[in-house]
Amino acid sequence: MVINNALILIIEDEPEIAEIIGTYLSREGFRVITAGDGTVGLAHHLRLRPDLVILDIKLPGRDGYEVLAAIRRRGDTPVIMVTALAEDLDKLQALRIGADDYVVKPFNPLEIAARAKAVLRRTLGRGSEKMLRVGSLTIDPQAYRAEVESAAGPVMVDLTRTEFRILSHMAAGIGRVFERSELVDACLPEGEALNRTVDSHVSNLRRKLAAAGADGLLVGVRGVGYRLDNIHGQ
Ligand code: CA
Repeated sequence: MVINNALILIIEDEPEIAEIIGTYLSREGFRVITAGDGTVGLAHHLRLRPDLVILDIKLPGRDGYEVLAAIRRRGDTPVIMVTALAEDLDKLQALRIGADDYVVKPFNPLEIAARAKAVLRRTLGRGSEKMLRVGSLTIDPQAYRAEVESAAGPVMVDLTRTEFRILSHMAAGIGRVFERSELVDACLPEGEALNRTVDSHVSNLRRKLAAAGADGLLVGVRGVGYRLDNIHGQ
């Protein structure tokens, strides 16, 4: 993952606050998605696998603590908690429930952006950043490298940032069908978010993989989306 291409999920029920945080993070080059409650937030977290979650504690329905616990049961996505009250802060510190950082309302939005960058820098290299293998293809998310193993040795696949992001997103779910809309939300820069745009990125990606010897690895599923297939890559 490259920090300034990171996808950040903001779970915050006050639209004005979500918008302010989102605006500042977007200015830093981050891609942002927001959710107004914990249930929607957890659904986005599962589907889009954000690089960082900014999580308000006082939420309608499930509160931030419950949402954090659910995120932690799934893995180690970095989380910055947003708290309005000193008592939240006490609880956070007492519980040590696995948040990576916290900010207290009212906050300077520049501070959130700075914290987000710091947490992303610190958490690079966690489990989700390990090498991914699909058949003869090896993806190194930290080095932003993809290589296909051939008889003559590894062949580097020269990918754009978006192509790399699509490939590594799909490599986390080999055999699963990824809908176009999911790839658009998770992988495309803002303003490029159209299903036909994802088609053209995927088509370039397939061509490059085939040229490197990994033909048939990325399969189109008619009317739905795409799938990475382990078998064809062997
Ligand atoms: Ca709130």
